[in-house]
Amino acid sequence: CRIDKDENVGATCDITFKEINEINGKIRPELLNIVHSDFFKYFKLDLYSQCPFWNDNNGYCVNRACAVDVIEDWDKLPSYWQPEVLGKLDKSGSEEASLDTQDEFLNHLCDNKGPNKNIRATTNTNNYGLVGKQDIEYCDVDEFSKKTAALVDLTANPERFTGYGGEQSSLIWSSIYKENCFIDNKKKNDTSDNQCLAKKVFFRLISGLHASIAVHLSNDYLNTETGKWGPNLELFMARVGNFPERVANIYFNYAIVSKAIYKISPFLENLDFCNDYDEKTKERIMHIASNLNTKIFNEDLLFQDDLTSEFKDQFRSRFKNVTRIMDCVHCDRCRLWGKVQTTGYATSLKILFEMDDQDASSVVNNLTKYELIALFNTFDRISQSVQSINNFEKLYYKKINSN
Ligand code: FAD
Repeated sequence: CRIDKDENVGATCDITFKEINEINGKIRPELLNIVHSDFFKYFKLDLYSQCPFWNDNNGYCVNRACAVDVIEDWDKLPSYWQPEVLGKLDKSGSEEASLDTQDEFLNHLCDNKGPNKNIRATTNTNNYGLVGKQDIEYCDVDEFSKKTAALVDLTANPERFTGYGGEQSSLIWSSIYKENCFIDNKKKNDTSDNQCLAKKVFFRLISGLHASIAVHLSNDYLNTETGKWGPNLELFMARVGNFPERVANIYFNYAIVSKAIYKISPFLENLDFCNDYDEKTKERIMHIASNLNTKIFNEDLLFQDDLTSEFKDQFRSRFKNVTRIMDCVHCDRCRLWGKVQTTGYATSLKILFEMDDQDASSVVNNLTKYELIALFNTFDRISQSVQSINNFEKLYYKKINSN
């Protein structure tokens, strides 16, 4: 992928691509076990939430024009390969349970010790306005407790190629990138460096998410000639492999999420799952944390002083908008994984940028279980991307050498 693996992942990260590959090799099996455990494999999604940014009554994008960019002849394919089928959710196993009780079994954590309560922001926010000083949330944590939110088994709904594309998904991506537009209200020249850094971090985060989704859809791609799912090297190269900065942004996101997990690991040690089975999950979390270190990402380089606190408010508010834009995604499965990952990044940002300002243990103890679930599943997604990139690299050289 034309990346020098001994190079640093970025100015805010004191770690090389090679070192991240090594860490990932060591923690991957444990991470997979964690996201397949009963506690971590369920997430809540409100499929009835309206898109808050534009009038959006078109329903699922069944119009073939939405998906022509990847497969050109959808009409000739069987019905079970159509985008509305590939992108739908398998809700078996969780649908029968009543909405009130369906996630009770997730309350494994003992009373008052675990992440099962919320910090509530005391200042209201609107979609585009700046948030008040006491809001430390980078996503709407309340949405998981809404009555209309349904429980979904993530392992039954893998993130993969769905055929979602064209104008609708382009509109979503361009709206997300437009959030990266910070306004310098104070017009002070000495803030510009910090503003640049905040903008750069925001862009890399979004671009890394975008590229990571592209890696997954290329890695778990439906070959419409053979009917089999598997890696598509050509698609990977066209979307990610030919753009070294996109590859680098995936590693950058790995640094962000892993540093957040490292930072809360002393508190996670005190999680009390109240049963032997989940003690094993805790051991696995500790094993992962023991392979991470503080230099992976230096969050202290951002928002260092009062002058830059305004950028931090904008960063928080704009990232919250990104998580809300997920409600505009028409493909249910894409929306599910978009919500999981934006919530996982929002949780990472809260841990990195708000924990030192507030009482650290209270930030961790007040994480909701869905933030914790999103955090580890997002880490799994980005870890899977790193593994797939290395695999695609091997496929690439194999192809070159055979020509
Ligand atoms: P897009 O990926 O739509 O990109 C639009 C433009 O953005 C490109 O032309 C390029 O200029 C720029 N761009 C592309 N990548 C980057 C990057 N990494 N950094 C900076 N700029 C970039 N499809 C699936 O098959 N499965 C999924 O699970 C899935 N999940 C999705 C989740 C969300 C939230 C969204 C918005 C879309 C999802 N999609 C999914 C659709 C997928 O992301 C693409 O939009 C689709 O495959 C069409 O791709 P494209 O090549 O037309 O360009």
